[in-house]
Amino acid sequence: MPEGDTIFRTARSIGRALIGKPVIAFRSTYPLLTRFNDDTPLAGQIVERVEARGKWLLISFSGGGILASHLLMNGRWHIYRQGERWQLARIHMRIVIENSEYQAVGFRVPVAEMHTAHSLARSTKIPRAANDVLSAEFDAGVALERLLGRPEQAVGDALLDQRVLAGVGNVFKSEICFVNGLNPFRKVETLTRDEAAAAISSARRLLQANVLEDSGDTIVTYRGQRRRTTHASDPGASLWVYGRNGEPCRRCGELIRRRIQGADARVTFWCPRCQHLPDGADVEG
Ligand SMILES: [Zn+2]
Repeated sequence: MPEGDTIFRTARSIGRALIGKPVIAFRSTYPLLTRFNDDTPLAGQIVERVEARGKWLLISFSGGGILASHLLMNGRWHIYRQGERWQLARIHMRIVIENSEYQAVGFRVPVAEMHTAHSLARSTKIPRAANDVLSAEFDAGVALERLLGRPEQAVGDALLDQRVLAGVGNVFKSEICFVNGLNPFRKVETLTRDEAAAAISSARRLLQANVLEDSGDTIVTYRGQRRRTTHASDPGASLWVYGRNGEPCRRCGELIRRRIQGADARVTFWCPRCQHLPDGADVEG
């Protein structure tokens, strides 16, 4: 599943192609979107804003409509110049937004709905900007209270909760725990306030580093001895622990471990020495 950094970069690309320009055509295979467009044509409206909210992508139109889409596992947005050949077959097209220069095409986007500012504010699924670690409106104080408000949850599970920190996915979860020396199976209530605050600020720092203009598609949290300008083909090569089961820890040499965690059975990687589990702190213990 794409993480917040991927959605953020997608929003940035779509924004560059669409913001400030009038829409000349809108098409969708989703009846609810088509009906909305029949009632309130998007053609002639200006795209005012494109933003990521956790794993949701929001496109705001001047008529007040906000198209919210979630990519889940297989959804993709592509930008094409008018007349350019699409890289995926037309059968996978779900949404097209066109202006005189570009087409933004949502392929296999499984979830898409039209909102108003009012319905968006009431949505329980789409995170607030204040919760999105990559948003300029992110509020670390609110995130800290939300994290501490889940005392019984394991740290690894709480970090993945989009109502705590929108944008953090499974790769970042393991990496955030490692860089803070936190065992992902500790209950949140065993963290000091400083430890919890440090986890939140590193979440922001790690995701922001992955949305810089020159960052590629590969998540990078570990750069080794020398900074590299190109990204390795092995995704684990640029990470501290994720995907490195049985390989030596980059800090202490202990072998990295892997375990399925939480109700959603997400895989977690950690170093048992650097991320020591205090006695009695294990959620499952
Ligand atoms: Zn270690």
